[in-house]
Amino acid sequence: PPVYRQRYWKIYEILVQENLRNNVKKLVDFGCGEFSLFSYIKRLNVEEMVFVDIDEALMVRNIDRLEPFIVDRLKRRSSPLVVTALRGSAADPDYRLRKTDVVTAIEIIEHLYPDTLDALPYNVFQFVRPKLAIFTTPNADFNVVFGRMRGAMRHPDHKFEWTRQQFEDWAHNITERFVDYTVEFSGLGIGPEHLDQIGCCSQVATFTRKDVLDESYISPTYAKHCHCDKTSPCQ
Ligand code: SAM
Repeated sequence: PPVYRQRYWKIYEILVQENLRNNVKKLVDFGCGEFSLFSYIKRLNVEEMVFVDIDEALMVRNIDRLEPFIVDRLKRRSSPLVVTALRGSAADPDYRLRKTDVVTAIEIIEHLYPDTLDALPYNVFQFVRPKLAIFTTPNADFNVVFGRMRGAMRHPDHKFEWTRQQFEDWAHNITERFVDYTVEFSGLGIGPEHLDQIGCCSQVATFTRKDVLDESYISPTYAKHCHCDKTSPCQ
């Protein structure tokens, strides 16, 4: 499947696991765009989903995607789901985001100006304080696959694209400042076999609040610079 679909599946898979472990009731999706994630996760046993984006016009154009489909009416959820769309910035605290268990931020950080990117961790890890926060962003190491010149971006609105090392540095800087969180890295969208060492198309950082890590949780091991979901490390 295309990488964008793999992203939503990946989030779905993480959430299924998280639900089993930590009983997720409320989820916030920052930079939700066209609400594409919703159809992948709407059957999850979650009570509330909040979709936040800075672009109100985009949300209004796509708001119908939050309505139940016919199939949803025929095959109803066993429990109610409250879905809210909010216009706002991922960097701004909002009391409606309190008591959130999971934050997702799919391909949004690379769209943020430096001041917003600086403010974002305070909102997510100090104000919202979810049990789990999942960030995805393009892996710049992978751009050679697209035949791009060094430094060229995948999208005109991208303010940056980070290598795996840069993304790791950003995430570790967060866990150094917000010490009750730990982070793990993975990837999605595997490239050609002969370019194994460049990692995956997108990179994923999964932050977990330490107090919810239970003893049954086995941390996945990844090679230092390999973020691929492969059974054996790339290098
Ligand atoms: N997450 C969605 C997905 O993967 O389908 C959309 C990703 S799109 C590439 C990036 C989104 O981030 C856009 O919808 C944009 O409006 C939104 N965005 C940019 N700056 C933002 C901010 N400060 N707060 C919230 N959303 C923002």
